[in-house]
Amino acid sequence: MSPTKKIIIANWKANPTSLDQAKSLFEATVKAATQYPSVQTVVCPPFVYLEELSTWLKSQAGDKTVSLGVQDVWEAAGPFTGEISPEMVRGLGVQYVLVGHSDRRYKLGESDELINRKLKAALQAGITPVLLVGEKEAEDYRQDILIDQMARDLEGLNAEEVAKVLVAYEPVWAISTSANSRPDTPENTLEAIGMIKEILHKNWQLNADQLQILYGGSVNETNAVNFLSHPEIAGAVIGGASLKPEEFAHILQLVNNVQK
Ligand code: PEP
Repeated sequence: MSPTKKIIIANWKANPTSLDQAKSLFEATVKAATQYPSVQTVVCPPFVYLEELSTWLKSQAGDKTVSLGVQDVWEAAGPFTGEISPEMVRGLGVQYVLVGHSDRRYKLGESDELINRKLKAALQAGITPVLLVGEKEAEDYRQDILIDQMARDLEGLNAEEVAKVLVAYEPVWAISTSANSRPDTPENTLEAIGMIKEILHKNWQLNADQLQILYGGSVNETNAVNFLSHPEIAGAVIGGASLKPEEFAHILQLVNNVQK
């Protein structure tokens, strides 16, 4: 049996600042990704570029190694000023949505209750939610935080629904734009993934082999293999390095080689 593809998610955040730049970054990313079919590459651009990138991607005959994701989504269409509904993005071919990113939790004040509602809406629309969890400071008591975040964010979901959520362990202190950031160690990540799997088993009776848990936080071309060579680490969420087309292409190549 061939191993499951690693999932590499490019989180562009609020970058780049023009459509031309977004198109050229996306075209370079797709060009690289198509050379490395053992990796499932997901690109999450800002909403304003989505339609153009989606149209271009559809014109690339037969390519399935790149999927589109979004960085957020609201529950539904209707009287929600400034928001975007799951159906709107699904119509543009979006298959993934980031939910619970620390930028939104801590810089924009997004609560676990909202995260839970967004997760449910994404699942209902058939979009795979990528739930980001993790402690804020390296000194924080990680296990309690993971238990608490997952209980609140996944509240009310049944086992079948939870199995469709991709959970990413993304400690905030490891994100490249955090003060004094440093990547986690693969050992620490493996421990956190073990905790996440235990929580999912205890609360939803899901087994480790039903779950794909990702890591995020300062993944770059020098450390990607250290993380992704572990079968327990199903993929990575990549911010800063996904904006550098050559480095991102190199990461895809390295991960593709791990998979062979
Ligand atoms: C992120 O913010 O999701 C992220 C992983 O960023 P970086 O790779 O830059 O640490």
